[in-house]
Amino acid sequence: MKEIDNLIAVSRKYGADSRFVIAGGGNTSYKDTTHLWVKASGHALATIDEEGFAVMDRARLDAMATKTYPADAAEREAQVKEDLSDANLTRGRRPSVETSLHNCMNFSYVVHLHPTLVNGLMCSVTAEKRCAELFPDALYVAYTDPGYTLFKKVYDAIGQWKAQRGSEPQVIFLQNHGIFVAADTVAEIDAIYEDVMTKLEALVAPLPEGETPVCDCVSEVLPAIRQILSRGGRGLKTLQVTKNALVDEFLANPKGVLTPFSPDGIVYCKSEYIVVDGENKAAEAEEKIEAYVTRRGHTPKVLLIKGIGLVAVGDNAKNARVITEVFLDAMKVAFYARSFGGEHGMEPAWIDFIDNWEVENYRRTVGAGGARGTRLPARRRPNRSTRWPETIAPSS
Ligand SMILES: [Zn+2]
Repeated sequence: MKEIDNLIAVSRKYGADSRFVIAGGGNTSYKDTTHLWVKASGHALATIDEEGFAVMDRARLDAMATKTYPADAAEREAQVKEDLSDANLTRGRRPSVETSLHNCMNFSYVVHLHPTLVNGLMCSVTAEKRCAELFPDALYVAYTDPGYTLFKKVYDAIGQWKAQRGSEPQVIFLQNHGIFVAADTVAEIDAIYEDVMTKLEALVAPLPEGETPVCDCVSEVLPAIRQILSRGGRGLKTLQVTKNALVDEFLANPKGVLTPFSPDGIVYCKSEYIVVDGENKAAEAEEKIEAYVTRRGHTPKVLLIKGIGLVAVGDNAKNARVITEVFLDAMKVAFYARSFGGEHGMEPAWIDFIDNWEVENYRRTVGAGGARGTRLPARRRPNRSTRWPETIAPSS
């Protein structure tokens, strides 16, 4: 089908471009009057093919918009998941919770992404105001807990928009999250993204660039920290160190990146990070890591160590790479947000919801034998990585 080929092409195009997609975030869809093809979980946009899309019954998805669900978040999301599963005509391909958002935008193609530049604006203190000035034809939606609550809020906002303007929005900006772009042709999707990116690029200061020197102490400090992180049955960790001009910006003043910016950021990096800025780095790291583990029940994913850089703590080399990528993206978002009055991280209640959601999902997944959860905390895998010196190649 020509339309599905278009969908695959547009998905791959944005998926392969790091300005638009970080760590496999975002999803795409095509719809006709009866069916919706939406990216299934576990597929990367960059390499997706037809099997990467779940085919959904739109009549059943439509019914979800007006159904009354339980007030309790866990019960509600469980029922929503059931209903999504009932609407799914391709068993085994799992549609994301953002599927309903795709369904309710009344255009053939929808490309939902979390581009760094867009989030520079969406995670800034002036997000709503600047969005209205820059993109008067776009719908802005203030942050809402992900899942059905967010869908319902967007659905109602589209209804209001339609009543007031007689048309439907093609661009939806979501605070501390990203953007939805919808159109009847892929060419129009491209034109809209081009316009959004061009406008934002013109307003932000360029990112600091280039690698910067790492403290000689790294060869002592890092193995010590790795040993602390891996002890007591915590599993052998892989550390990845990044030191460059951007990282240096936030080593000098970490405040701007100590609060997560989006739910995805929390899924990969957790919601709390460790800063080590004293002289005796290993001792300070030990004290802070142990206090962190006692408080939170898991090891930290991100350490910012003065003189050494951003240290991502992964369960294996691949995991450490993803954490690095996601946290560097948060640094870029924080940097861009300065051009929009300063950063606006997630608020404590928003963070709590995600933290609890993860725990809840994990608990339920364990209870169900591991078959159903969507937002698993990184699972402990048998460690396949090599020893420390080979796995900390600094990256930019
Ligand atoms: Zn999203």
